[in-house]
Amino acid sequence: MSSFSQFNLDPRILSAIERMGYQEPTPIQMEAIPVVMNGGDVMGAAQTGTGKTASFGLPLISRILHHANTSMSPARHPVRALILTPTRELADQVSKNLTAYAADTPLRSGVVYGGVDIRPQSDMLRRGVEILTATPGRLLDHLEQRATNLSQVEIVVLDEADRMLDMGFLPDISRILKLIPANRQSLMFSATFSEDITKLAKNFLRPNPTVIEVARQNQTAETVTQEVLQVLDREKTDVLIDILKTRGENNQPMQQVIVFVNAKVTCRRLARTLERVGINADAIHGDKTQEERQTALDGFKAGTIHVLVATDVAARGLDIKELPCVINYDVPFCAEDYVHRIGRTGRAGAHGLAVMLATSEDDKLIDAIEKLTKQSFTQVPTRPLSRRARSEMRHERESMERPDTPEDERAARDRARAYVPPSQRHRDPIFDTPYRERQPQRTKPEELHVFEREVRKPRQLAALLGGMRIPLKD
Ligand code: AMP
Repeated sequence: MSSFSQFNLDPRILSAIERMGYQEPTPIQMEAIPVVMNGGDVMGAAQTGTGKTASFGLPLISRILHHANTSMSPARHPVRALILTPTRELADQVSKNLTAYAADTPLRSGVVYGGVDIRPQSDMLRRGVEILTATPGRLLDHLEQRATNLSQVEIVVLDEADRMLDMGFLPDISRILKLIPANRQSLMFSATFSEDITKLAKNFLRPNPTVIEVARQNQTAETVTQEVLQVLDREKTDVLIDILKTRGENNQPMQQVIVFVNAKVTCRRLARTLERVGINADAIHGDKTQEERQTALDGFKAGTIHVLVATDVAARGLDIKELPCVINYDVPFCAEDYVHRIGRTGRAGAHGLAVMLATSEDDKLIDAIEKLTKQSFTQVPTRPLSRRARSEMRHERESMERPDTPEDERAARDRARAYVPPSQRHRDPIFDTPYRERQPQRTKPEELHVFEREVRKPRQLAALLGGMRIPLKD
């Protein structure tokens, strides 16, 4: 049996691995750890769920460990390793893992992403961190504010590089990479290898990086059973509810499932509909603030939410342990999203189920998925559902649908930035201002001047002239 001790990792890293309960390295870890330990560049094709975070995280910590120190001076804790990720959720997750792996060392690690208050992040950066995980946009904000700099970075990781390209982050990434010394070590991970990714690797990595593919390119994990159900468009919600209520353990309701949809509006409405029929559901999409997304995710992880309805942008990279099932309520517009979606289940060797609802309109999209994943689906007709269940849901389903695009994601980020907490809204200039003791006034206040000019003097004059009435101003 292979073990982590074969990699020459520091005992302080090995103790963290033991605490995490990792018993043996996963295939990507077997291949990537020795290369990264030797200082080589890596282009890795690995889905989330294969253990790729540890495959770069463990050797990365090992390589910068000689810089570790307990000094309080920020200057002694410059950023040595930078990990860029496309979404806040993934950034958070990667950073949590890195923090856990480095817990027995004095190395500091931190994370920055948009959609939340920038100040605590700036404070953290100013105190100094050796390992920084970041989304590109927010990192640039910090760099502009000079909260940190990247001149001491030795290792850069581009995680889910394909998604970063999809989301239009290429210019941001290029700007960031220009600020990092050229003799750095670079690691790039992507669930799929497209032409664009190969081009990016050419510019970003040193020549001849080690290419590591744990599953065949664009392949879905073998541990996932994939089902495609033929449905009529108007029956989709009914079929979904039927699956959710009957396909859990012992034909009981499902306890933890992500339902993927293509549009935010479907996401919101479907979550509401499920709630209405007694299923604990929440929605996670690009319009939600970071706080709302985290609440939904926490509820899902804690088991109070059984069904998370999600769009692709919001759900990328979510690491939810042992997710037994994902359902594609909509067939994804982009075949590669199918690979990502079903990669949420069947992780780290566990068995998973991926069900997709397909209407006759989806034939072209299904063809594209079959071509990409080199398999052919057997489409199964669904059993008829009760008329009542159908009529209950029908009115919920009509509306214009709009895909959740990177632009939406950015707009949501801006909205989150502009968010004012309730405690600071509607400030009344008098009642919400703290009471301040007034200094005794030596000069005559302005109101007295006005009173004298407008009222008292004309009145005195009027009295002398025999008591004319002077109209008083209010
Ligand atoms: P990742 O692909 O990095 O998102 O990892 C997926 C999940 O597998 C995470 O929850 C990791 O903590 C876990 N994991 C990573 N490496 C191992 C390992 N060698 N043994 C068991 N679990 C692991």
